[in-house]
Amino acid sequence: MAESKFTRILYVPHDHLNESFGVLKTANPAADVLVLVESARMTSGRNWHKERLFFLVASARQFARSLEAKGFTVRYLQAPTTIDGLNLARAEFGPLEIHCAEPSSYRQMAALSEFGVHFVENDFFLTSRPLFKLWAEKQKTFVMENFYRAQRMRLGILVDNGKPEGGRWNFDADNRLPPPKGHVYPQPLSFEPDEIDRQVLAEIEGRRKAHPEDYWGDGPSGVWGTTRAAALAQLDDFLSNRFENFGPYEDAMPRDSWSVYHSLLSPYMNVGLLHASEVIEAVRVRFQQGGVSLASCEGFVRQVIGWREYINGIYWFFNDSYRESNGLAANRKLLPLYWNPQATEMNCARSVVEDLRERSWVHHIPRLMVLSNLALLTAVNPQEYLDWMRQTFIDASEWVMVPNVIGMGVHADNGQMMTKPYAAGGAYVNRMSNYCGGCRFDPKKRTGEDACPLTTLYWDFLDRNREGFARNHRIAQQVKGLDRLSDLPEVRARAREVLAKLEAGEL
Ligand code: SF4
Repeated sequence: MAESKFTRILYVPHDHLNESFGVLKTANPAADVLVLVESARMTSGRNWHKERLFFLVASARQFARSLEAKGFTVRYLQAPTTIDGLNLARAEFGPLEIHCAEPSSYRQMAALSEFGVHFVENDFFLTSRPLFKLWAEKQKTFVMENFYRAQRMRLGILVDNGKPEGGRWNFDADNRLPPPKGHVYPQPLSFEPDEIDRQVLAEIEGRRKAHPEDYWGDGPSGVWGTTRAAALAQLDDFLSNRFENFGPYEDAMPRDSWSVYHSLLSPYMNVGLLHASEVIEAVRVRFQQGGVSLASCEGFVRQVIGWREYINGIYWFFNDSYRESNGLAANRKLLPLYWNPQATEMNCARSVVEDLRERSWVHHIPRLMVLSNLALLTAVNPQEYLDWMRQTFIDASEWVMVPNVIGMGVHADNGQMMTKPYAAGGAYVNRMSNYCGGCRFDPKKRTGEDACPLTTLYWDFLDRNREGFARNHRIAQQVKGLDRLSDLPEVRARAREVLAKLEAGEL
């Protein structure tokens, strides 16, 4: 080993792709060697969505190339594990100290700590982990709305002399419009692959031929770029073409637009190519220019400084065992329709999984009110469902998915995070989408061959959990509705049929 001119190895995880944050903000090309590791654990051994894997690998390789172009010495290493990769770097450069920003999952934090890596604070969020802890320790319940209002005040966003701009903190009531009829939605951007992208794709295709069981989904679809320039173009496109209508239609699920007016920024933010601070600043400037309603602006700000920060804070506030929660003792195997949309006749579920297969992304309402709702109502095992979500979504970081699935999606934490389960029958989907019009089931019916499976299962779910939920004032009203059902025995019998057929992929 030649004597190294370097004094530190800076390890850059695949979701810290930003020169201005994390460990790179202290990087010195004369003294530091920068290391990225593409571990086999990350690329194989699980049923990764092809689009997701392509995006994660290609964006990291693009980032490594951009650092090299700026004069850094960079090693992009392929190795069985991250630790093996760091050992390879030490074999080349000597036993240097390794520095990294605190990683984004418990598993990686433990592995790097044990290896003796020095951490700097993870500043990829607007709220540090200690700061969230300070807030959470003062709460009786972790109501996101309270956190969000505190964030607005702390960060000085949409506040005027300590009061919310426009006199209200929350414009949710204005932001729940169903899909408009005969509407033309803006087309999302598309991105041409370059030489690095094509190389990554060829490698994935090669591996997929050898191990088809390790991959699912189509792609790349071209709707996700892999560079900082692409991320900035997406931000600009959102501000110019979608921001104005984001709020009113943020919960709508039109069959004829997969992207609606959503920003499509979460994949870029979750790998570090965009930072929440620059997104919020760009939004603030655009809002001040006029033409965007306060309801739209507030709805978007809520997602970024509220939900996103809250979910990350909750992930680190609860400990690692939170991931294994199964408070409703849900133990059904994952339904076949989650891998194969042809395994169901439910138009909503089939359409959402088809969209997912195509692009590895659907917005927050199909995630919550179709996919997670169905997993909740059918008592799918939370960890099986969580694994599927992690493998499927392009923006599915561990910190995102654990609280979103365990706490919010399938209420597996006995209400530690959200005070009520997000359970709904077909009426919600019928109101917020146009899926039901083309479906062989009737969202209003709970019994009979053409009863909507969600409607049947919704009542059956409340019935099965009647005792536990009766004490929860946020859902007690829904549970009381059971008393008005004269056909409960038929509902229970139909629910058994529905569950058996969904398990067999025949409904
Ligand atoms: Fe989904 Fe039921 Fe509507 Fe069919 S009727 S699309 S299953 S909610």
